[in-house]
Amino acid sequence: MGIIEKLRLDNKKAFVTGGARGIGYNITLALAEAGADVAIVDMDESTAKTSAEEIAKQTGKKIIAVKADVTKKADVDAMIDSVLKAFGRIDVAFCNAGIALNVPAEEMTLEDWNKVININLTGVFLTAQAAGKVMIKQGGGSIINTASMSAHIVNVPQPQCSYNASKAGVIQLTKSLAVEWALKNVRVNSISPGYIGTDLIMNSPLLKPLIEKWCAQSPLHRLGKPEELQAIAVYLAGDASAFTTGSDFGIDGAFTCI
Ligand code: NDP
Repeated sequence: MGIIEKLRLDNKKAFVTGGARGIGYNITLALAEAGADVAIVDMDESTAKTSAEEIAKQTGKKIIAVKADVTKKADVDAMIDSVLKAFGRIDVAFCNAGIALNVPAEEMTLEDWNKVININLTGVFLTAQAAGKVMIKQGGGSIINTASMSAHIVNVPQPQCSYNASKAGVIQLTKSLAVEWALKNVRVNSISPGYIGTDLIMNSPLLKPLIEKWCAQSPLHRLGKPEELQAIAVYLAGDASAFTTGSDFGIDGAFTCI
């Protein structure tokens, strides 16, 4: 089989958490364009449904919306059941839901800290664990977690210690699962995007001054586009990356080089 064929995801069944908008939406679109049926898993059910309809229309693939809060084990388990009911198997689990909170460390409440860790780290664990169990039983699969360049560097000027710590945790969790599940044919990798200009970020008047600073700091003098994460998602999801597990992929326009 040639490399372009290996990159195809025909007959694969996937889900993407936080897939209703932003990076998750673009990843869902990419997986579907490559041939997969995809479940958009999100807290925001109405946007998830609209996004699923859009992507189904555009790609002709089966795209469903499943409401779940990734911090709740019962929600995650119910989501896995729904995906299995719709698709019969899970080949690709993209654990992407995450939030950022900019609060100076000395002012951060335990509640704020827990909120970020619960969604960004515990949510990834619960989702990857539930998907991993299914994949082990069915003989294999690919799990991809969205970390961040913030796992590698400390962003400035905004204070975001809980976010940075949560994303560093995602990378070490990814490596741990990759080693535990290597012989079970379940691959686990992470991506570490730099600043990505999602609609939410680009349309936020509050973030405008920050965006200017981030662009000035970046060697490319611009934010990444959500679609610039699509190729790595397709690569990691499918058989072309059979020997790739336990790796983190930086897509940050050389931001972390300086
Ligand atoms: P967005 O905020 O645009 O989208 C995140 C989606 O996740 C939203 O639809 C949101 O729903 C959903 N979500 C939030 N919490 C939960 C939850 N507990 N359970 C299920 N769904 C949830 O984020 P981005 O697209 O910008 O980011 C996606 C991922 O990429 C995150 O992990 C982020 O940390 C990471 N990342 C983003 C970068 C960027 O510059 N944009 C850079 C590096 C990493 P709702 O609307 O209801 O909150």
